[in-house]
Amino acid sequence: MKKKKLSLPLQILIALVLGVIVGLICYFSGEGAQKFTGDYLKPLGDIFVNLLKFIVVPVVLLSMIDGILSMNDMKKVGSVGVKTVVFFMITTAIACVIGLVFANIFKGAGWFPDLSGSLGAAEYEAKEFGGFMSTLVGIFPSNMWAAFSSANMLQVIVIALFFGGSILAVKDKEKKLTCTNLVSSLYAVIERLMMFVISLSPIGVFTYMSWVVATQGAEILGSLALVILCAYIGYVVHALVVYSVAASAFAKINPLKFFKGAFAAMIFAFTSTSSAATLPVSKECAEDLGAEGDVAAFVLPLGSTINMDGTAIYQCVATVFIASCAGMNLTLGQMITVVVTATLASIGTAGVSGAGMIMLAMVLEAINIPVEYIGLIVAVDRLFDMGRTCLNVTGDISCSLCVSAWERKKAAGKSAKA
Ligand code: ASP
Repeated sequence: MKKKKLSLPLQILIALVLGVIVGLICYFSGEGAQKFTGDYLKPLGDIFVNLLKFIVVPVVLLSMIDGILSMNDMKKVGSVGVKTVVFFMITTAIACVIGLVFANIFKGAGWFPDLSGSLGAAEYEAKEFGGFMSTLVGIFPSNMWAAFSSANMLQVIVIALFFGGSILAVKDKEKKLTCTNLVSSLYAVIERLMMFVISLSPIGVFTYMSWVVATQGAEILGSLALVILCAYIGYVVHALVVYSVAASAFAKINPLKFFKGAFAAMIFAFTSTSSAATLPVSKECAEDLGAEGDVAAFVLPLGSTINMDGTAIYQCVATVFIASCAGMNLTLGQMITVVVTATLASIGTAGVSGAGMIMLAMVLEAINIPVEYIGLIVAVDRLFDMGRTCLNVTGDISCSLCVSAWERKKAAGKSAKA
């Protein structure tokens, strides 16, 4: 009989538990054992983080260009497209603010640790927020390769917008098709690579967890529990406030009915941690709740690619947590940068398991926090991911209901006039 391979979630869970056990053993065995985790286990985790860093630029670049190209028929679905994108942007920006508010409450209450003394490793220069105009100028690259090599994500996004737009504008149909196919083929390759890197996460989880527990002791477990709690409070508040209000105010659906109707998709998303994999379930839920078939068919796939409110909350909470661990206090300017980059990063996040953590690198880069510190939370990413994917999918369903209602209203207005 063929042996069944353990699923990735189970592998990660086992890695987490083993990491904690090995870490605790080393923690209580004294300095030699603790040093061993730093000298031999942590470097393996570093390899995993290096791989994350290495794919973040191509992932952002290709997924954004691919997304723009797949909006080719935006004109045909013009009004639905604009409403959908506006809904996504507004709810995601609100999600970022909610994430930052709760993260700062937790930080203010002293529930996030300052580990800068013991982490010691990375040095950083706190970048001053140089004002709106210079930030705006800084978004536009003067050298494409410099943007890639310094992983300047805002510039990478601008490059993607320009290339995506230019490919769409190419007159020669054959050349345009060749470019479109090239981008989607390259994106398929980078997606495959991303899956491979994510499949290595048990190694990252085990090595970092044992190193962190061995050197920080049980304290880190307590603070990780708190940062997870903080993210989940954000998820719940966002769902209860934003989606309930949207469903009842725009789609005239009672919030209870909304959550009951969306439940199957929410649970599937929670366990699968992939918006893309949840798509068939969310489409059924949305239509049962009264979304128009064609609107749901447009909004949900787009949403599973670019609408990630849960991911945005997670990225904001994680950024404040990591900054706090690094002994950094974020300035107002940096918080604004976090809102902008987390909104963009969540748009660039693919609807697959663990992608939000990869894109977190972009938010950290934007405010000059060493990306290595993602290692602090990599072990529990799955726990964050379950909640954030659940929220991501709920947001897509709520959007499809609102846009359906607006389109119906518009059609009713037109026929009344006629
Ligand atoms: N797993 C999430 C999703 O598919 C993306 C993420 O990792 O944040 O929606």
